[in-house]
Amino acid sequence: MPTTVELVLRPEELHHSALLRQKAAQQTGLSPGQIAHLEILKSSLDARGRDPVFRLRAEVYGPGEVFTPEPALLDALKPVDGRKGRVLIVGAGPAGYFAALELLELGMQPIVLDRGKDVRARRRDLRAIQQFGEVNPHSNYCFGEGGAGTYSDGKLYTRSDKRGNLRKALRLLVEHGAKSDILTEAHPHIGSNKLPGVVQNIRETILHYGGEVHFGQMVTDFLLKNGRITGVVTQAVEPAAGASSAEWQADAVILATGHSARDIYRLLHAKGIPIEAKPFALGVRVEHPQTMVDSVQYRQSPRDERLPAASYSLVCQVRDRGVFSFCMCPGGLIVPAATAPGEIVVNGMSMSRRDSPFANSGVVVAVEPEDLAPWHKHGVFAHLEFQAEVERRMFAAGDGSQKAPALRLPDFIAGRMSADLPGSSYIPGLFTAPLYELLPPFIYKRLRDGLGQFGKMMRSYLTQEAVVVGTESRTSAPLRIPRDPVSLMHPQVAGLFPCGEGAGYAGGILSAAMDGQRVARAVYSLKVER
Ligand SMILES: Cc1cc2nc3c(=O)[nH]c(=O)nc-3n(C[C@H](O)[C@H](O)[C@H](O)COP(=O)(O)OP(=O)(O)OC[C@H]3O[C@@H](n4cnc5c(N)ncnc54)[C@H](O)[C@@H]3O)c2cc1C
Repeated sequence: MPTTVELVLRPEELHHSALLRQKAAQQTGLSPGQIAHLEILKSSLDARGRDPVFRLRAEVYGPGEVFTPEPALLDALKPVDGRKGRVLIVGAGPAGYFAALELLELGMQPIVLDRGKDVRARRRDLRAIQQFGEVNPHSNYCFGEGGAGTYSDGKLYTRSDKRGNLRKALRLLVEHGAKSDILTEAHPHIGSNKLPGVVQNIRETILHYGGEVHFGQMVTDFLLKNGRITGVVTQAVEPAAGASSAEWQADAVILATGHSARDIYRLLHAKGIPIEAKPFALGVRVEHPQTMVDSVQYRQSPRDERLPAASYSLVCQVRDRGVFSFCMCPGGLIVPAATAPGEIVVNGMSMSRRDSPFANSGVVVAVEPEDLAPWHKHGVFAHLEFQAEVERRMFAAGDGSQKAPALRLPDFIAGRMSADLPGSSYIPGLFTAPLYELLPPFIYKRLRDGLGQFGKMMRSYLTQEAVVVGTESRTSAPLRIPRDPVSLMHPQVAGLFPCGEGAGYAGGILSAAMDGQRVARAVYSLKVER
């Protein structure tokens, strides 16, 4: 039996394998030469003390003890031929692609349809948003292969690890090209420069084992018969001559269209398929110089280059409502995440090295139905209409481009205009605007008070060099598509499986991937029962 040890290492000791063996040997009474294998299980950075240290949990294999690596998950896959069933998956985001991998494992054929482009072609459209302010409604930071998670920070932590097989999802990412460190790090992340390669490899696996992936296919209708979904209708986004619309038949449909597919919510409602409004959060993105965050968290300036860019996580209550930091991107960039012309939406991403001079984080307020009385006239779309209205207001304050409204943080809190703005990572550019008037009062006042409290929790947080950017509005879906808790099928439509973030069952790359896996298993068990 291997012995588990806890090792404490200074940053300069972390990649020193002889020293690691020596420290492990000291704890087990073995000599370093007697250690047959050292397996790292977990690694986390502890910056609470005077000097930051890494804490590692590892298994030490002594003489005669053999370490057996887990067999590759992909080795278990076999080509599928569709005889066990064909499943349409709408959306090639993490939920859709991980559902497809799981279906292959179960011998069912996944047919993935996405309105966007493949991960490489998508890059041109991201450049058009960044440089020319042109938003393609089918190919942007949210839509296209890999979904919203592709050109993101690629943070892979989740609080919902009880909801699925977290390790399996991480191992599949590694088997498709992510670094194996993500299996052991407490706060794993992949980075925007690495994620597209991983996504492309997943597509190749799907195709190799008999699945299909079709881009530029926007689902515009559902085929329904006697309370059951039998397929979908798509519209080609860039129609080839004579083939603009198509019907796709299947045994089941997994709907994994993400939190920004507003037309899918409208379609469900128009077809009489129940959907529900759901609480979400809305706010701003706050950007600081990375050196400021490093100096507070590590008490070093500049930070030891072996330490990762530091982050923070802050939360407080303001008048019975949570105000919290969200989706922090240390060493990252603020990006324009609108999915249609005429709106401003911001989000954050970072490269694997997290080496930009800026640290950005969403700071958002929970939005509950009682906040939205004036929007109740929109019925089930009250939250969605509210979200869209804020995004349009931010856009209308600008010059028609993707420049985003902003204020220095102390001015935002004081409710006054800034004379000028500090440097920022946001490529389209910022303009000074009265965010305290553009944001709905119940959001602004809580953000103002919450950010004031953050300033008491974190030294230097309220620096003049910090900038507040509007608006962080796509934190999660504003609607839920109901599903039965056991069958995971829509209660009113047999064969329809709402999945991932857009359906309201995930909030992030990993939780969406795990939901995809669960839903694929549910599709399979229903098929087996029938
Ligand atoms: C810039 C940015 C950074 C982020 N950073 C992180 C992070 O670091 N870590 C993290 O965990 N999460 C992050 N997120 C959130 C994360 O990306 C999402 O939670 C996750 O992608 C949700 O997965 P999903 O598969 O449910 O939906 P999505 O990823 O949204 O995928 C939905 C897919 O459906 C397609 N689609 C939509 N409508 C239709 C239609 N009518 N027909 C056909 N296809 C359609 C879209 O093109 C899209 O590909 C970030 C999001 C953004 C935008």
